[in-house]
Amino acid sequence: SHAERSNQRYGFYRPGIEQEARIQYELENDLHFSIERGELFVMYQPFVYGSEGATKGMEALLRWKHPVHGMIPPSTFIPMAEENGLIHQLGRWVLEEVCREAGPVLKRNRSWTAAVNLSSRQLEHSGFIEELPGIVHAYGVEPDQLELEITERTMMQPERMLPVLNRLKAYGFRLSLDDFGTGYSSLSQLKELPVDTLKIDRSFIEDMNETQKNAAIVQTIIHAARNLNMKVVAEGIEEAEQAQELLEMACFYFQGYYFSVPKTIQEFPWSREA
Ligand code: C2E
Ligand code: MG
Ligand code: MG
Ligand code: MG
Repeated sequence: SHAERSNQRYGFYRPGIEQEARIQYELENDLHFSIERGELFVMYQPFVYGSEGATKGMEALLRWKHPVHGMIPPSTFIPMAEENGLIHQLGRWVLEEVCREAGPVLKRNRSWTAAVNLSSRQLEHSGFIEELPGIVHAYGVEPDQLELEITERTMMQPERMLPVLNRLKAYGFRLSLDDFGTGYSSLSQLKELPVDTLKIDRSFIEDMNETQKNAAIVQTIIHAARNLNMKVVAEGIEEAEQAQELLEMACFYFQGYYFSVPKTIQEFPWSREA
């Protein structure tokens, strides 16, 4: 057809742009059917404690396997879902899936927690927040074994978010501030938040060795967490040296490819034990 021919011609001069827009459109459309078509699944990345790297729990990371375009990263489809409102449905699905497939693991390991990411749009939807306790109870999972991760940037308006966080705490969930260090929380704001855990953003860990400034930021976050009685987790550990340096700075919880990449629940040794 004419359209196809002109597409091909343009394609030569503007590689990818039209096609990218078309794929974007296709994905936005297909995301609506991803749940019913069984294209979503959850991967789990352990977080570990101490020099031995003992598992203490895991973070649930959502995956979408598109039948034509393959694995679509959450950085692509989560913003789409936030834009078109599908995020509430996806969020409910993730929490249910985590309770269903990771619930037995949590019951066998009562001190472990499973972390689930929530985006700002999800927190703004009171209907969604009210649904959470029911979902967890339906699977017999204790809410204090679920840690809801909220990015520090979401906390830019703490006065708006505080009632929601207090509500989640009242339901018994644990709360974690994700990507910490990339937002602008002051210590005085931080002490008002009912947060259990700070997760130091990967970017500070990445070049901690090369950049003294990053090491100083990491040390400051670790001190702040200790003073506020919060747990601190370092994300994105890729080398033994990073974990070693963090241990010396009194950070004991780690997550990263060095310990384990995200895996399906079946790939974990603990899911095979019972
Ligand atoms: P996040 O919550 O900060 O998750 C950590 C990300 O870092 C994950 O990327 C993980 O695979 C990756 N990662 C872990 N260890 C390493 C490492 O050692 N090196 C490097 N380079 N990367 C590492 P992923 O799975 O692509 O997720 C990206 C983001 O998407 C997450 O960042 C989170 O903000 C969001 N996300 C994922 N699942 C969900 C979900 O169910 N709901 C919502 N709202 N957001 C989600
Ligand atoms: Mg996270
Ligand atoms: Mg993070
Ligand atoms: Mg991140």
